[in-house]
Amino acid sequence: MMTKQYGPFKEEPRLDPAHELVFTILSQHTSDINSARAFGYLMDQFGSLEAVAQGGVAEIEAAISPGGLAKVKAPRIKLVLSRILELNGSLNLSFLQEMPLKEAKAWLRQLPGIGPKSAGIILNFSLGMPAMAIDTHIFRVCQRLRFIGPKVSLNKAHEIMEAKVPPEDVFQFHVAIINHGRKVCKAQRPLCGECIVAEECPSRTKMMKATEFKKSGKTARLKNGVNKPLTTKDSGPIMPHVPAE
Ligand code: SF4
Repeated sequence: MMTKQYGPFKEEPRLDPAHELVFTILSQHTSDINSARAFGYLMDQFGSLEAVAQGGVAEIEAAISPGGLAKVKAPRIKLVLSRILELNGSLNLSFLQEMPLKEAKAWLRQLPGIGPKSAGIILNFSLGMPAMAIDTHIFRVCQRLRFIGPKVSLNKAHEIMEAKVPPEDVFQFHVAIINHGRKVCKAQRPLCGECIVAEECPSRTKMMKATEFKKSGKTARLKNGVNKPLTTKDSGPIMPHVPAE
């Protein structure tokens, strides 16, 4: 239902796994636009990830500084690329695709700073493997829809949702829920009155009351109408992890 509402989402690998990994580091706590820019600057400056791996932390930091948090991310990128070279002898990670999903995840998670979300993004976005990556939006929406319980940790949520979603739907699910979380089921003041899954949502009444309370009478009260088409200004599908052209 959400894919129909927010999609369709084109399912094509944009980056090879090592580039996706660096992109993932650059996207941590950064907007899509800034991480795409930082990635572009890094590749313009160095030309290849092999050159980045040979480069100094200060040079990497200078290249990615427009993306923010460069002081933290530059040493992280250097460290992770060096570790891949140590373990694998090259930055070609296509061998992961030949591994069972669990082993491929474990291989990536031995790398410094790579948790379940980053591993899921690399395997799903780059290699088309059915790894579920749960970001803050997906976690929130899944909790509100009770796909996961209120006490489930973010780490555990990856396993639970991966088991629930058919492998062939993982990518579409991931992107559709991110779109829903960013556009409608927002952290503050979710737009339950415009939500296409409101009738099935166990949190709707509670969230609508909370939103009403926050509005405290300044705007018109929401009626109980649900399943209205999305009326918020829609700028088209949000596609995370898209490098700048
Ligand atoms: S009804 Fe509200 S809380 Fe439930 S999924 Fe929709 S926007 Fe989120």
